[in-house]
Amino acid sequence: MEFLTLFFIYVLSILTCLALVCKYSGKGQFPLEKLFVYLTNIISHLVPERLQTASNQILHRLFHKRNSFFLALHFLLEAAVYGEFTYEIFGYCQEIGFSLPSLIVPYVLLTVKMYFFSQCCTKDPGTITKLNNEGFLGVYPYDQVMFYQGVLCPTCVLVKPARSKHCRVCNICVHRFDHHCVWVNNCIGAFNTKYFLLYLMTLSAMAADIAVLTIGLLLHLVLQSNLMSAAYVDEEGHQQPVGLFFVIQYLFLTFPRIVFMLGFLMFLFLLLLGYSFFHLYLAVTNQTANEWYKRKSHGCQHCNPSPQQQSHTSLHNFYSRGTIRNLKEILKPIAKNEKKGR
Ligand SMILES: [Zn+2]
Ligand SMILES: [Zn+2]
Repeated sequence: MEFLTLFFIYVLSILTCLALVCKYSGKGQFPLEKLFVYLTNIISHLVPERLQTASNQILHRLFHKRNSFFLALHFLLEAAVYGEFTYEIFGYCQEIGFSLPSLIVPYVLLTVKMYFFSQCCTKDPGTITKLNNEGFLGVYPYDQVMFYQGVLCPTCVLVKPARSKHCRVCNICVHRFDHHCVWVNNCIGAFNTKYFLLYLMTLSAMAADIAVLTIGLLLHLVLQSNLMSAAYVDEEGHQQPVGLFFVIQYLFLTFPRIVFMLGFLMFLFLLLLGYSFFHLYLAVTNQTANEWYKRKSHGCQHCNPSPQQQSHTSLHNFYSRGTIRNLKEILKPIAKNEKKGR
């Protein structure tokens, strides 16, 4: 298969996975919503109805029911990347003189990341039960815009504390609910937000570190082979100097696994970096993703906002207590019966 076809399939498969995850794991609109709807409309005319129903059921089970699919996928991708790194890159890098400590850093990051990841998966996010409901009611004041006093969760039949939300996937009410994460198969709430943030950061660092080592290796191979000063004969028989596109094509066809992995890591890193900064912003401003989405959807109704919506905007940082105290609140969440002074 020629280079461009391979590359096209590669990019298309990654973009399809991304679109599916964005569409079904998040709330509200995602950036390419219209394009996604347009494409699914076209596909719906081509695919038989029975197949569509079956795929919808699978997607519903994947994204709206607790399951271990994404945990398994997470480990599979990680095993593939670390397997490739250990099998090919580690040895190559050692041969060309990379220091051993620099090659061990990815394994250290993996160990640290595994700890944060396991905490995200297993730590109670802040489940509200009949026994602890009373205590959680006093933690945050009601802003009377997003959270109102005396509202009952119809499923748990409990009075909702401010900033809490019922997770339809886990079927529980969660204290300081952020979102339900399919990758950790758990809710992200008051008591595991810090682990989630640290997990995102170490995962970004892991992707960046392996990508940098791989780029270093490929650069060394290109420079060592004098590829940049070489020439090739085009279809019309003319000699052409080797350009960047040719080098990428050469590397892709000579080291397909390494280049494939590098592309995946770079793509993953950019995605994770954006997501990490988003969650860092939420932590610094003392907002949850749930509150941010609610504000965003209110912001869409900017035509003739009601007095309630206007007050919504003015209460942008209702729960913020300053950057340092906001971060402290993430690291040491306010537990029941600890009313905070404001
Ligand atoms: Zn509930
Ligand atoms: Zn949940």
